[in-house]
Amino acid sequence: MTSADGGPIAKPLPRPESRGLTAPFWEAAKRHELVCQRCGQCSKWIFYPREQCPSCFSTQLDWAPVTGRGRVFAFTIVNQPAHPGFESEVPYAYAIVQLDEGVRMPTNIVECSLEDIEVDMPVTVVFDDVSADWTLVKFRPM
Ligand SMILES: [Zn+2]
Repeated sequence: MTSADGGPIAKPLPRPESRGLTAPFWEAAKRHELVCQRCGQCSKWIFYPREQCPSCFSTQLDWAPVTGRGRVFAFTIVNQPAHPGFESEVPYAYAIVQLDEGVRMPTNIVECSLEDIEVDMPVTVVFDDVSADWTLVKFRPM
Protein backbone atom coordinates (compact mmCIF):
# COMPACT_ATOMS: atom_id res chain seq x y z
CA MET A 1 0.00 0.00 0.00
CA THR A 2 1.33 3.43 -0.96
CA SER A 3 0.26 6.99 -0.39
CA ALA A 4 -0.87 9.46 -3.08
CA ASP A 5 2.74 10.50 -3.70
CA GLY A 6 3.85 6.88 -4.09
CA GLY A 7 5.56 6.61 -0.71
CA PRO A 8 4.64 4.16 2.03
CA ILE A 9 1.73 5.07 4.25
CA ALA A 10 3.12 6.53 7.43
CA LYS A 11 0.23 5.55 9.69
CA PRO A 12 -1.34 2.13 10.14
CA LEU A 13 -5.06 1.66 9.65
CA PRO A 14 -7.04 2.94 12.60
CA ARG A 15 -8.37 0.10 14.72
CA PRO A 16 -11.50 -0.02 16.81
CA GLU A 17 -11.07 0.23 20.56
CA SER A 18 -11.84 -3.30 21.74
CA ARG A 19 -11.35 -3.03 25.46
CA GLY A 20 -13.76 -2.38 28.30
CA LEU A 21 -17.34 -1.66 27.41
CA THR A 22 -17.08 -2.60 23.72
CA ALA A 23 -15.03 -5.79 24.17
CA PRO A 24 -18.03 -8.21 24.02
CA PHE A 25 -19.09 -6.69 20.66
CA TRP A 26 -15.64 -7.19 19.10
CA GLU A 27 -15.16 -10.65 20.63
CA ALA A 28 -18.51 -11.74 19.15
CA ALA A 29 -17.60 -10.25 15.77
CA LYS A 30 -14.45 -12.39 15.79
CA ARG A 31 -16.75 -15.44 16.19
CA HIS A 32 -18.92 -14.06 13.35
CA GLU A 33 -21.76 -13.28 15.71
CA LEU A 34 -23.53 -9.95 15.98
CA VAL A 35 -24.51 -8.97 19.51
CA CYS A 36 -25.96 -5.85 21.09
CA GLN A 37 -26.71 -4.84 24.63
CA ARG A 38 -30.23 -5.38 25.92
CA CYS A 39 -31.70 -3.76 29.01
CA GLY A 40 -32.65 -6.26 31.71
CA GLN A 41 -35.20 -3.80 33.10
CA CYS A 42 -37.14 -2.47 30.07
CA SER A 43 -35.92 -5.01 27.43
CA LYS A 44 -34.91 -2.32 24.93
CA TRP A 45 -31.97 -2.98 22.61
CA ILE A 46 -29.02 -0.64 22.96
CA PHE A 47 -26.27 0.36 20.54
CA TYR A 48 -23.61 1.80 20.91
CA PRO A 49 -22.43 0.03 24.08
CA ARG A 50 -23.20 1.95 27.27
CA GLU A 51 -23.07 1.50 31.01
CA GLN A 52 -26.65 2.60 31.52
CA CYS A 53 -29.90 2.12 29.57
CA PRO A 54 -30.76 5.40 27.77
CA SER A 55 -34.49 4.65 28.21
CA CYS A 56 -34.86 3.66 31.89
CA PHE A 57 -31.34 4.31 33.28
CA SER A 58 -30.98 0.73 34.48
CA THR A 59 -27.45 -0.58 34.74
CA GLN A 60 -28.64 -4.19 34.28
CA LEU A 61 -27.48 -4.57 30.69
CA ASP A 62 -26.71 -7.89 29.02
CA TRP A 63 -25.26 -8.83 25.67
CA ALA A 64 -27.47 -10.89 23.38
CA PRO A 65 -27.41 -12.02 19.75
CA VAL A 66 -29.42 -10.03 17.21
CA THR A 67 -30.79 -11.16 13.86
CA GLY A 68 -28.14 -9.40 11.80
CA ARG A 69 -30.88 -8.16 9.47
CA GLY A 70 -31.96 -4.60 8.95
CA ARG A 71 -32.39 -1.78 6.47
CA VAL A 72 -30.22 1.05 5.24
CA PHE A 73 -31.26 4.08 7.30
CA ALA A 74 -28.80 6.50 5.64
CA PHE A 75 -25.68 6.26 3.54
CA THR A 76 -23.06 8.21 1.66
CA ILE A 77 -20.43 7.27 -0.88
CA VAL A 78 -16.97 8.16 0.40
CA ASN A 79 -14.63 9.35 -2.35
CA GLN A 80 -12.12 11.21 -0.16
CA PRO A 81 -10.58 8.87 2.44
CA ALA A 82 -10.83 10.17 5.99
CA HIS A 83 -7.51 8.43 6.77
CA PRO A 84 -4.56 7.62 4.47
CA GLY A 85 -4.97 3.93 5.31
CA PHE A 86 -8.31 3.87 3.49
CA GLU A 87 -6.96 5.36 0.26
CA SER A 88 -7.14 2.04 -1.59
CA GLU A 89 -10.74 1.49 -0.42
CA VAL A 90 -12.39 4.54 -2.03
CA PRO A 91 -15.01 4.84 -3.28
CA TYR A 92 -16.91 2.93 -0.58
CA ALA A 93 -20.32 3.12 1.08
CA TYR A 94 -20.50 4.38 4.65
CA ALA A 95 -23.94 3.74 6.08
CA ILE A 96 -26.14 3.71 9.13
CA VAL A 97 -28.09 0.44 9.24
CA GLN A 98 -31.18 0.13 11.41
CA LEU A 99 -31.37 -3.43 12.67
CA ASP A 100 -34.71 -5.25 12.94
CA GLU A 101 -34.25 -4.83 16.71
CA GLY A 102 -34.43 -1.05 16.21
CA VAL A 103 -30.88 0.06 16.99
CA ARG A 104 -28.82 1.93 14.40
CA MET A 105 -25.27 0.91 13.62
CA PRO A 106 -22.54 2.68 11.62
CA THR A 107 -21.07 0.33 9.02
CA ASN A 108 -20.17 -0.24 5.39
CA ILE A 109 -22.41 -1.68 2.67
CA VAL A 110 -20.46 -4.25 0.65
CA GLU A 111 -20.88 -6.98 -1.97
CA CYS A 112 -22.94 -4.78 -4.31
CA SER A 113 -22.60 -1.97 -6.79
CA LEU A 114 -22.49 1.41 -5.04
CA GLU A 115 -25.13 2.65 -7.49
CA ASP A 116 -27.59 0.01 -6.22
CA ILE A 117 -27.56 1.17 -2.60
CA GLU A 118 -30.67 3.01 -1.48
CA VAL A 119 -32.34 4.04 1.74
CA ASP A 120 -34.61 1.32 3.18
CA MET A 121 -32.77 -1.42 1.25
CA PRO A 122 -32.91 -4.72 3.21
CA VAL A 123 -29.43 -5.83 4.32
CA THR A 124 -27.85 -8.63 6.31
CA VAL A 125 -24.64 -8.75 8.30
CA VAL A 126 -21.30 -9.99 6.93
CA PHE A 127 -18.05 -10.24 8.83
CA ASP A 128 -14.80 -8.89 7.40
CA ASP A 129 -11.80 -10.61 9.01
CA VAL A 130 -9.32 -7.78 8.60
CA SER A 131 -6.70 -9.70 10.59
CA ALA A 132 -6.48 -12.68 12.95
CA ASP A 133 -7.64 -10.56 15.89
CA TRP A 134 -9.77 -7.93 14.18
CA THR A 135 -13.13 -8.45 12.48
CA LEU A 136 -15.34 -5.66 11.21
CA VAL A 137 -19.12 -5.83 11.00
CA LYS A 138 -20.44 -4.88 7.55
CA PHE A 139 -23.70 -5.41 5.68
CA ARG A 140 -24.69 -6.62 2.21
CA PRO A 141 -28.01 -6.57 0.36
CA MET A 142 -30.34 -9.47 1.21
ZN1 LIG B 1 -33.99 0.07 30.10
